[in-house]
Amino acid sequence: MIQRARSIRISALLILLGGVGFWGLLQWQADNHVFAWERPVSVLIVCVSDPSADPAEDVLRGFFARFLSTGPAFESNLSGIAKWFAREFETHRGHPMQPIQFSARGPIQATAAPPLPPTADAPFLDRWRGTRKFLDYFRDLGQRANLVTENYDAVIFVYFYGEDDVGKYAGQHSIASRRDRLGVVFSAVGPNYFRRCAALVAHELCHTLGATDKYEGERSIFPDGFAEPEKNPRFPQTLCEIMSLAIPLSESSERHVETLTDCVVGKKTAREIGWIR
Ligand SMILES: [Zn+2]
Repeated sequence: MIQRARSIRISALLILLGGVGFWGLLQWQADNHVFAWERPVSVLIVCVSDPSADPAEDVLRGFFARFLSTGPAFESNLSGIAKWFAREFETHRGHPMQPIQFSARGPIQATAAPPLPPTADAPFLDRWRGTRKFLDYFRDLGQRANLVTENYDAVIFVYFYGEDDVGKYAGQHSIASRRDRLGVVFSAVGPNYFRRCAALVAHELCHTLGATDKYEGERSIFPDGFAEPEKNPRFPQTLCEIMSLAIPLSESSERHVETLTDCVVGKKTAREIGWIR
């Protein structure tokens, strides 16, 4: 009898260990997934409007339609972002292909402002919990709007707030999770902000595809965070590596990038997302 109880306990333990091991393997695979780029990667862009902004208002509706436009490509709309990815893909791969296929939904009006994402210097457990809470907020938002996010390779939420709230959201960082293939970008709504917003969408999307940041503090990392690391003299740089989001002007100064057309995908980023070996 004792022998039987012991073997049941051991079997249960082995099943539990097997389950944990399998879960760990799935997480590891998600954390290290690299797309094959034999077909376009499908990306859903979801526009969310802050509770204080009414997306039904004519002016705002026009702004959203302009940003989500899949008509002619501009540096401030979705078509422009798709075109930029195609340009960079061809540079690295040497043949043309549309690597990213965008679909757009929204605007969805949020009923409450999102929780603040954790700061980079928070303890590990707080960062983990804070990130989950933050991403869950957006996942819930998608579920309430009946979005089938599983049908896409990656999802980027763009949270738009009114110009008057620029101060309130100034510290709100964009964030992305490769494991969840989910990214969130914050931007004021309006034509003046869409060019910068497009660069942020491309940056966060690259994170979900496997790219790491190429800056430390306020500085782009040399050489990986430089668009033209071999340029001589090194400064001023004229372009921005997409994962550094800044153009290094001298040893001690950088300019925040304002438009995606000034950005390129550097070699290390191209390697991380599987464009080159
Ligand atoms: Zn980043």
